[in-house]
Amino acid sequence: MSSYRAETLDQLSGGSLDLAVIGGGITGARIAFEAARLGWKVALLEAGDFGGGTSSASSKLIHGGFRYLPMGDIALVRESQMERRVLMERVAPNLVRPLPFLLPVYEGSSRGKATIAAGLMLYRALAGRGGRVGFMHPSVAKAAVPGLRMSGLRMCGVFDEAETIDSRLVLATVKGAARCGALVLNHARVTGLELRHNRGALVTVDAGEEGGVLQVRARHVINAAGPWVDRVRALDQPHARPLVRFSKGIHLLLPLEGEWRCGVAMPLRGGRVALGIPWQGMLMLGTTDTPFTGDPAEVTVTREDTRTVLNEASLFLADDLLEPAQVRFAIAGLRALPVADGKTADARRGHLVEVSLNGLVSVAGGKLTTHRLIAIDALRRLPYAHIGRLNADDSRLPGTGWSFHVEADRSLDPEVANHLERLYGDEAGRVLDLAAVLPDGMERIHPSGPDVWAQVDYAFESEWARTAEDVARRRTTLAMRGLLTDSIRQRIERLAPARQLVS
Ligand code: FAD
Repeated sequence: MSSYRAETLDQLSGGSLDLAVIGGGITGARIAFEAARLGWKVALLEAGDFGGGTSSASSKLIHGGFRYLPMGDIALVRESQMERRVLMERVAPNLVRPLPFLLPVYEGSSRGKATIAAGLMLYRALAGRGGRVGFMHPSVAKAAVPGLRMSGLRMCGVFDEAETIDSRLVLATVKGAARCGALVLNHARVTGLELRHNRGALVTVDAGEEGGVLQVRARHVINAAGPWVDRVRALDQPHARPLVRFSKGIHLLLPLEGEWRCGVAMPLRGGRVALGIPWQGMLMLGTTDTPFTGDPAEVTVTREDTRTVLNEASLFLADDLLEPAQVRFAIAGLRALPVADGKTADARRGHLVEVSLNGLVSVAGGKLTTHRLIAIDALRRLPYAHIGRLNADDSRLPGTGWSFHVEADRSLDPEVANHLERLYGDEAGRVLDLAAVLPDGMERIHPSGPDVWAQVDYAFESEWARTAEDVARRRTTLAMRGLLTDSIRQRIERLAPARQLVS
């Protein structure tokens, strides 16, 4: 077992915490970070891997919420716009990057130029500084998005958005929390909760074969278990009525033809939007919005989901890009929406916070984009914590920004150099240092992708990875590119046990 993990388990079972956070998605990670920044003794407990739930199944957009304008959710749009700017410029520069979007208008479209112009102007007004909007002639749009379907295209609206690598944004936030003193533990499921209002809690944690089961004492507990929020609430109050229902959304990754300078957001009937996003040199298509019931861990992409996404993408992309055989990877995720009647597509996308009679604060839903505000809201709702005024921290997270080492090293393959800087920001130099002492460190893991073997070592040594899946799916881009072959998986697994040494 790694020394970090052993020490963390030791500290958890021995001491008493101010706050235990259940769930290491973006919400739980940010709560742990903000609370640790207050000087609290905090633990972040994640059943699987950090970011392994919804937070690595998003559309990877830090978006201003253009889609919420027709729903009249002006407050959410304004909030999202502000958060997009703060994340892009201060909190996670380089990991959150600008990406303009086209809004194509085809003949027969239900929304004409005047309606779209009005929407864009309102969006622009809510953005404050930055946030350009405008219109693009079809021929210019074609140059920005080479695969764009031209027949019947009358014009394109344009608006600013931003894209990110969601799983690495979670990881950067977990690193921020750990740097402020939080104890962070993945592959550690909370299986029991005993809360006594105003008299603290006893949290039972199953830390797997090596860690065993431990009891952790905490003054406060926040349940940030995403789609599992009601399951964790049931540990506190077995008969509590559900807080959330689910809507499934899927994404497909395909090879990207040509150089795309914009994403595409194509309005569909019923308020939905089909997306085409250039992401890490791939084309990401999404997303669906269908009700889901059952165990969140069992959510999968069906053949019908794939057909729906490809069909909807064919409204704005050329058919030859959209062959089912081209799909390299598919992801399914669940939106946690308030329990209510009506279509999931119409449901409000703000977050929910509930405080139980025993003092358990449960938080779910919302957006990756607004996660800092959600975290502050959850902390403020802690009973007897007397937090008072608290603003979300806006300092830069570790593992974001730019690397002097990468920029100074002219011998690096430019594609690999860009990739490392994008994924690791100011920590890219540490990956290069590892590469320098490993015989295969700068060798590409797969010839068709930019990930190199030193990243695998870095994931095990410094980023809490414990399985091949942790490395391939959330530390590198291997799985998302469809490049995780059996032999690569086995080689990663052989590296795992000796190298879990997060320091
Ligand atoms: P999660 O990421 O699901 O984290 C919850 C964690 O709790 C999980 O990792 C789980 O393993 C853990 N857990 C569960 N039970 C336990 C237990 N007993 N003990 C310990 N841990 C436990 N937002 C945007 O801003 N931009 C987008 O482009 C965007 N696109 C989206 C597309 C789709 C299809 C979906 C579904 C959502 C999208 N969102 C987007 C929303 C965004 O992804 C979510 O709001 C966000 O990721 C929720 O994070 P979370 O931390 O609350 O939940």
